[in-house]
Amino acid sequence: MKKKSHIWIAVRAVDLLARDEETATLAALLRPLVSRVAIGAWLPDEKYFKNGSGSTQNHVLKMKPYAGADAVRFIQSREETCRKLGPHRKLTGFMEQLPADFWTRPYRGDCDPGRHPADCAAGLATALTDLLLLGDAQLQSVLDDIVPEKLPFPKDAQTSVTQAALYFFMMSHFAADAQMPCHADARVLARYDAPLHAAWEKHFDDQLDAFPNPDKVEQVPAAELLTAAVKAFPLELPSKIPSLKKNVWEEIIQICRASFALNCLLVPPEQFPFDGPERVAFKAVFSGPSGARRLQDVTYAILHDSVLGVAMLWKHVWKSLR
Ligand SMILES: [Zn+2]
Repeated sequence: MKKKSHIWIAVRAVDLLARDEETATLAALLRPLVSRVAIGAWLPDEKYFKNGSGSTQNHVLKMKPYAGADAVRFIQSREETCRKLGPHRKLTGFMEQLPADFWTRPYRGDCDPGRHPADCAAGLATALTDLLLLGDAQLQSVLDDIVPEKLPFPKDAQTSVTQAALYFFMMSHFAADAQMPCHADARVLARYDAPLHAAWEKHFDDQLDAFPNPDKVEQVPAAELLTAAVKAFPLELPSKIPSLKKNVWEEIIQICRASFALNCLLVPPEQFPFDGPERVAFKAVFSGPSGARRLQDVTYAILHDSVLGVAMLWKHVWKSLR
């Protein structure tokens, strides 16, 4: 996804946290900082980072049919996929539209070491949990059992709320990227330099026309940015944020599997094989009499699940401390 979409998803997720009593305290910490730490939502794409680049080929799990050892491990039925995603995700509604034999085949994604999106999200979640435990006076006032109360710990090494907020926003990046169908599909047509991928990401940004552009966000007062996020793209979200089924790592894997399935629904492998060089235009994927409606439904589902997914990961980290 592009910078604007990433920022919007994270800011919108902060608003959602405020509606759940179990995360209201975290929301109160993050709300005043959304403009200042917005940059965190897209930092992991920056080339300045160890594994960053601008190519968006990092931290993506590109899946394809698998014929190696232990292939049965990489088969997951539709029922299991939907159960692991949970009933609150809009993506599950698309899973039943895939042909039954899609779910009988093994699929697997490969990543270079250090670039697996589930590893990136889970690693950041673990680091953030410990950073919160080493929190400063402001964090100590809202968290129990934190380390500086138990050990002589230098004040200037304690985590500030701004630092923690930046890491929460960085974590949102991996959950949001996993929702982009082209990030989960190994076919040539899903590459960033192929027409489908870039046009689709632009389409997400275009839906958020009323939300400030990334270069302006830092100057927008936090309360204004939060209101703009809610208004820019209306979503109906549950007021109680669901818990993760298992853990951060597993959650990202399941989102990637669903995103891959969605791409295979929209661009069927029967017409566009995994080993083929074919590319497809964004407009062609959503053409025909029902194309516009389908694009609307898919866009809503992806943005809905991105916001909810980010809030779920954040809640998981926060609840592990309380
Ligand atoms: Zn990214």
